[in-house]
Amino acid sequence: AADNKAVMTEAHELLAKLYHHYLLNTEQGLKALEYLKNRGFTDEVITRFQIGFAPDSWDAATNFLKRRNFSLDLCEKAGLLGKRDFDGKPFDRFRSRIMFPIWDRNGKVIAFGGRILGSGEPKYLNSPETMLFNKGNNLYALHLSRPQMRKKEQAVLFEGYVDTIAAWRAGVENGVATLGTSLTEEQAKLLKRNVPSVVICYDSDNAGVEAAFRASAILQKAGVNVRIAQMPDGLDPDDYIQKFGTEKFNRDVIGASLTVMAFKIQYFRRGKNLNDEGERMLYIEEVIKEISRLSNAVEKDHYLRQLSDEFNLSLEALKQQQYLTAKQQK
Ligand code: ATP
Ligand code: MN
Ligand code: MN
Ligand code: MN
Repeated sequence: AADNKAVMTEAHELLAKLYHHYLLNTEQGLKALEYLKNRGFTDEVITRFQIGFAPDSWDAATNFLKRRNFSLDLCEKAGLLGKRDFDGKPFDRFRSRIMFPIWDRNGKVIAFGGRILGSGEPKYLNSPETMLFNKGNNLYALHLSRPQMRKKEQAVLFEGYVDTIAAWRAGVENGVATLGTSLTEEQAKLLKRNVPSVVICYDSDNAGVEAAFRASAILQKAGVNVRIAQMPDGLDPDDYIQKFGTEKFNRDVIGASLTVMAFKIQYFRRGKNLNDEGERMLYIEEVIKEISRLSNAVEKDHYLRQLSDEFNLSLEALKQQQYLTAKQQK
């Protein structure tokens, strides 16, 4: 089995080179290259992140692997090839897609994410779970970002490949991504082994915010200090950088990240008219519920006082309410 893994890794490494070559040196790669350039990918980025292009072919990768005497069966198990239902004939899994290699923590390619050129479904086709690739144990670009993570004693967590890459171009060189799935405990532990604190920088749509809340709970449980970065209007980090530039991204997004509690407070405020009694009460209830989840008594006190001051409410009443809420949650 160990042998099989080594062979599978070798096939990934070689295919990453093939796809990279297709992107840079072939007629077919030109439109992919143009697409990437339009999205702000520089030559430096394309090299660093080993970006490639899988040609519009059913057998380019298959023939390449066959010529190099790989067992096509093994390549299929590695998620690189598909297998035709009716006769078991292998075919290229990735066709006409921009290829993002996914590395293990030592920098070996163990999977791919393939993006369609422009619009279409599915937008991303990723490698399946294999002997090599366990999604939940892996973070995109970890081996590339680890030196800066360690140096800054902080990591930035993104949703996607493109966000990680755009942020790197913007000088945020300590980024990794979960690749669209929810953060797992293993990923949180992996981060904890490298850094004491993480800034979550997910897409600012509702799904992204919800995912950021879930991820923050998992990271906190793993003992990581968490902050959440915010962007306006449903933008993702790449969109934001395209729209507002790198300087503003560093200053107003990464630099202005909030503690989880502060982020939640301003999130609950969003779109509410706090002069309206009903909306105000709902807001206070939401905040108290969050306060009741805090484990630190000093922090609890701090946020209760803040509520008390802002809305001119008795601290005693708020404490009582917090206590009742905490009891209900148990
Ligand atoms: P782009 O900017 O190219 O549109 P994105 O990173 O903004 O990409 P999102 O839709 O925000 O794309 O998804 C974030 C991440 O989730 C992607 O990088 C990808 O890893 C994963 N993902 C998105 N769609 C799919 C899909 N259909 N299948 C598998 N993974 C997906
Ligand atoms: Mn998204
Ligand atoms: Mn996105
Ligand atoms: Mn995007």
